[in-house]
Amino acid sequence: MSPASTLSIGAHVDQTDPIAEAQARGMGLVQFFLGDPQGYKGPEVRYAGGAAALRADAEAAGIDLYVHAPYIINVATTNNRIRIPSRKLLKQHMDAAAEIGAKGLIVHGGHVNKADDPAVGFENWRKAVEATDLKVPLLIENTAGGENAMTRYLERISGVFAAIESTEGADMVGFCLDTCHAHAGGNALETVVADVLAITGRIDLVHCNDSRDEFDSGADRHANIGAGRIDPDLLAAVVREAGAPVVLETPGGADEHVADAASLRSRL
Ligand SMILES: [Zn+2]
Repeated sequence: MSPASTLSIGAHVDQTDPIAEAQARGMGLVQFFLGDPQGYKGPEVRYAGGAAALRADAEAAGIDLYVHAPYIINVATTNNRIRIPSRKLLKQHMDAAAEIGAKGLIVHGGHVNKADDPAVGFENWRKAVEATDLKVPLLIENTAGGENAMTRYLERISGVFAAIESTEGADMVGFCLDTCHAHAGGNALETVVADVLAITGRIDLVHCNDSRDEFDSGADRHANIGAGRIDPDLLAAVVREAGAPVVLETPGGADEHVADAASLRSRL
């Protein structure tokens, strides 16, 4: 665990030139999508020189890259028409993330259908991990809502990680804690880091976002630090406790992200 004062704080940015986006913010870490976050079309690298150039240029600039997988990926579902393409998309993004030298691939926990036994979702997660060649760490993110969600409540996160534990790639599966999702999902930020660590043993990345919505609302609307319903000191406490790199997924562009990072850092 690194001292809080030296924690790396980055932001979610446009994918066309993530290095320029990082430099515009004075940040050493950025997260972005590869292609359409809402589509099943495979990943694409929009950086001018392609994947190899992005990897080399990021390394030369000292910038850590993280890839956020499309939101539509749901490897847990019992619906074949969603699970099968989701698994394919996950594999494709894993390969693309490795090509650009990403430090991790972030994916949402997904959900099963309303009437489904969540145990089927846990088992589907195990199969998805087994089927994927984990070339970079796969970071499963908690979600704010979702009917019968896999990673909204701690008990479910526990089910997912227990299922994955037996797979060969288990040590390459980590956790991304989103503060907005935890708050809106009904997990107290005062205890969530310890609660998650007791289950997963690791938090690899923090998505540090304020929330426009009430505790346990199930809504997923991010806000700038201090502009939402979460005490900014509490956000800083989560970041400090987690001791992991931070990605701001807050509204706005470079100016807003710089302000959010400064606000957060002043409280660490
Ligand atoms: Zn997030």
